[in-house]
Parts: sequence; C-alpha cells; structure tokens
Amino acid sequence: MAKERMLQFVTVNREMPEKRPATLRSQDFHEIYRDFAAQKAAEQASRCSQCGVPYCQSHCPLHNNIPDWLRMTAEGRLQEAYEISQATNTFPEICGRICPQDRLCEGNCVIEQSGHGTVTIGSVEKYITDTAWENGWVKPVKPAVERSESVAIIGAGPGGLAAADMLRRKGFQVTVYDRYDRAGGLLTYGIPGFKLEKPVVMQRVEQLEASGVNFVMNCKVGEDLSFDAIRGQHDAVLIATGVYKMRDVGGPGVGQKGIVQALDYLTVSNRKSFGDEVEAYDNGDLNAAGKRVVVIGGGDTAMDCVRTAIRQGATSVKCLYRRDKANMPGSQRETQNAEEEGVEFVWLTAPKAFTGNGAVEGVMVQRMRLGAPDATGRQTPEIIEGADYVEPADLVITALGFEPEELPTLWGVPELAVTRWGTIKADFRTHATSLPGVFAAGDIVRGASLVVWAIRDGREAADAIMDYLAQPASVAAE
Ligand SMILES: Cc1cc2nc3c(=O)[nH]c(=O)nc-3n(C[C@H](O)[C@H](O)[C@H](O)COP(=O)(O)OP(=O)(O)OC[C@H]3O[C@@H](n4cnc5c(N)ncnc54)[C@H](O)[C@@H]3O)c2cc1C
Ligand code: SF4
Repeated sequence: MAKERMLQFVTVNREMPEKRPATLRSQDFHEIYRDFAAQKAAEQASRCSQCGVPYCQSHCPLHNNIPDWLRMTAEGRLQEAYEISQATNTFPEICGRICPQDRLCEGNCVIEQSGHGTVTIGSVEKYITDTAWENGWVKPVKPAVERSESVAIIGAGPGGLAAADMLRRKGFQVTVYDRYDRAGGLLTYGIPGFKLEKPVVMQRVEQLEASGVNFVMNCKVGEDLSFDAIRGQHDAVLIATGVYKMRDVGGPGVGQKGIVQALDYLTVSNRKSFGDEVEAYDNGDLNAAGKRVVVIGGGDTAMDCVRTAIRQGATSVKCLYRRDKANMPGSQRETQNAEEEGVEFVWLTAPKAFTGNGAVEGVMVQRMRLGAPDATGRQTPEIIEGADYVEPADLVITALGFEPEELPTLWGVPELAVTRWGTIKADFRTHATSLPGVFAAGDIVRGASLVVWAIRDGREAADAIMDYLAQPASVAAE
C-alpha cells in the first residue's frame, strides 16, 4: 500500500504537477515516504535467511550483529533492533548511508552469493537508526559515575568522535580539538551532502556536546596549541587527525588557474551547503556551474567530485583514469551512479600537460594500455606513443589520493614513530604509539581508508585508553 502511494506521489509530482491534489503536499510526502521506507525495510529484513554462517557479520569491520537486527526489523521490533545495532556501531545511520556495502557486508550476503540479490543491509541499518532518532530513542550519554581523568582527542572525525563517545559513556572527561570550525572531519567537509546529509552528522555532534564532550574548534594543533601543551593538560591523548596531504599532478602548465585539488573543491561545496559565505565558490573559482569539467583519478574521491560537478550544473563532466573500469579503485556502485547521472569516463587515459595561458583551457591527454602485471599482480598502465589529444576544460579537478602530514616535524615531537609511508606507528590492537599515554586511530594510522574502520579504531583505542588509565601511575608512565 505504502509503495503504491509513494509511486502515485512521485508520478503525479513529476508528470502532472498541476494535477497534484492539494492533499499531496510535502508533509504528506514525508509520511508516505516513512511508510514506504518502513515497508521496504521490513521486506528486505525478512529476506534474510538467518543462514547461520553470517559472512555479512564477519565482513563488517564492526562485526555488527546483522542477522539479529534484521530479524527484529522483520518482526517490527524496531527499538530492539536499534539497541542491538548501536551496541557495536557508534554511528549506524552514517555507516548505513556511506559504507561501500558491496565490498563489505552486502557483498558477502549468502543470498547475494547464490545469485538472488543481497539483502540491502545498509538501508535497513539506516532506517532503524533514523527511526530511533525520530522516536527519541537516541539519548545523550549520562555516565553513572564521573571520573577525574581527562583525555584529549585531536581530530573530530569519525575516529575521534567514536572514541569520545565510548570514553564519555564511562565518565571520562573528554576534550576534542579540531582545526575546523565544525566537527565531523571528512563526514562534514569531505563526503558530499547527496551521499551523507549534513544534519545527520550535526545531530551526532550536538548529542556528544549534550553528553558533556568538550569541543575546542578552530584550534590547529602544532600552530594554535602545541602538542606538548595538550599532553601536559590531559592524562592521555588520542591522535585521530586523518590524512590530508593531497598527491599532486605533474606536467607542463600545471600551476594555472582552474586546476584545483579535490578536497578544496569538495570542502567549498560542503561549506556552501551549510549556508556559509564562500568567496571561492561565489567568484566561480571552485564552482563547476557552466563549465567543462575534467576530473583526474579513479577512486571514491574522484566519484564524489564528478557527481558534485553534475549537481552544480557543469556543461560536461569527464573523468580520466589510467586503467580500465575493471581495475578502478572506486566502488563500482558509485561509478554506475555517476554514469547514470551523465558523467563520461575516459578509461585508459592520463594527463600529460595542461594547455592555457594562465587559466586552464584543456588537458593534453595520453592514451594508455594495460601491460604486464606488477609485484602485486595488478597490470601496469603503459603509454601508447603518438596517441595524445587535447580534452577541452575550464575546470580540472585532481583526485589522486592522500598522504599523511609529517606530524613529528609539524608538532616538534621526533620521538613519535611513523611508518615508511608517514602514517603513525601504532599497535594494531591497543593503538598505543611510541609515546607513553598517546594513542592513534583512523586514517592517520591506516592511510586513507573508510569511515567504518575509523569508527572501529576509535572504539578500540577508547578501550585501550581506559585500560591505560586504570593502571597505577608508575606502570602507565613506563
Ligand atoms: C571525498 C571523500 C569521500 C569519502 N567517501 C567515503 C565514503 O563514502 N565512505 C567511507 O566509508 N569513507 C569515505 N571516505 C573516507 C573517510 O571519510 C575517512 O576514511 C574517514 O573520515 C577517516 O576518519 P578519521 O577520523 O581518521 O579522519 P578525518 O575524518 O579526516 O578527521 C580528521 C580530523 O582531524 C582534524 N585535524 C587534522 N589535523 C589537525 C590538527 N593539526 N589540529 C587539529 N585538528 C586536526 C581535521 O580537521 C579533521 O576534522 C571519503 C574520503 C574522502 C576524502
Ligand atoms: S557498518 Fe557498514 S559494513 Fe557494517 S553492517 Fe553497517 S553498512 Fe554493513
């Protein structure tokens, strides 16, 4: 029934807006949509065969108890479903929206493996927690006992916030420091709003504030406040600063106006969606409207850029990637979405140079082919000589991946050990670094990864910090 009403609403709105009955206004839409979502969630949840070999669960980095919350949803016991779901995941509604489920839980659903299409686990997870918020089941934390020990968390992304939540539940005094004006890290300023609506992130931040987490924003550690000062003020520190150094594109003509980096472009777009005044957007520098856009890269960040450019009203959006579709690092689902929205993928191509006279006018593109496999078994792209051409462009967005910033140098702590990739060296279980009382979690340890892994790391690090603070001071200082 809900499905029929939903279809009626969508059809009337799209095809005959003048005939839209007065009763079908937007508040009706929310009601109809809610009924429809409830019906869909129950339908999907009841498809779970309760197979007894939950590969979905073992392939979820948080080992969410998926079969149990699917069963509760199928039986209409949504509050119980929510309780089970939130026991292992700090932000289930966020993961439900943006986890690459095709590579994680859903990709390993036995129904999918037997060719009948996966249970849409992520959508059900999102539905359960959205319903929990609507019904007031998600409450600020009220610790049974307040503890005196204080923990500093540097970085308000999903890793830092997951740790803050866990520590606060146990009554620790938590202060989160971040260089941005809003918390959420890449949830707020990286991932576009059409994948993750910003109020969904902000309600979590507000809930943490209401739980007593102290946020110190616009504070860049290493510049506004030294790392040593933070260590001196708190009993333990968690570094969860993510990775932000973008890999640069090379070649003649590279420094011209109109060649921009993906994260700058996405951050500005996200700021605009908050209603901020953003000069670089308003003056057109970081705005794709009316432009021929070329995005360079084949990962998820590139997909976010092409899809944002389409939404901003670009006249054309092309994505250059040096391998083929089968070898693309980004999610196949995202690529398909982008194709359906009008993005043109130009496989087996790489930028050689940029044309223009101060402002970019085109990308000199060289064609590639896949050669022999490298040590990892992946075929190496090789240049096809003499096959170059110029792709006209008014805006070129480079999305070639991220590297960690050099924290030991930037923060003046050479004793903070890093790996040869520049990520922080931390114990894989306890997340302890080379400095006593200092832990690290999320992308700054793993390199560019996923939200769900940052949440897992943050939760594990919080547990380890609690253990550390429970030790006698003499042992902890060792
Ligand atoms: C464009 C884009 C799209 C993505 N899409 C997805 C997706 O769809 N699904 C998914 O699972 N993952 C996605 N990811 C990856 C995901 O966002 C990250 O893996 C995740 O956010 C890492 O969490 P984190 O807490 O480690 O770091 P971050 O989210 O990066 O947060 C780190 C925080 O630390 C702060 N910080 C850094 N240095 C300092 C300092 N010196 N002082 C104070 N604060 C500091 C930063 O301001 C930031 O707020 C995407 C990434 C990008 C770039
Ligand atoms: S957290 Fe991510 S991987 Fe785990 S069940 Fe939810 S959507 Fe799937």
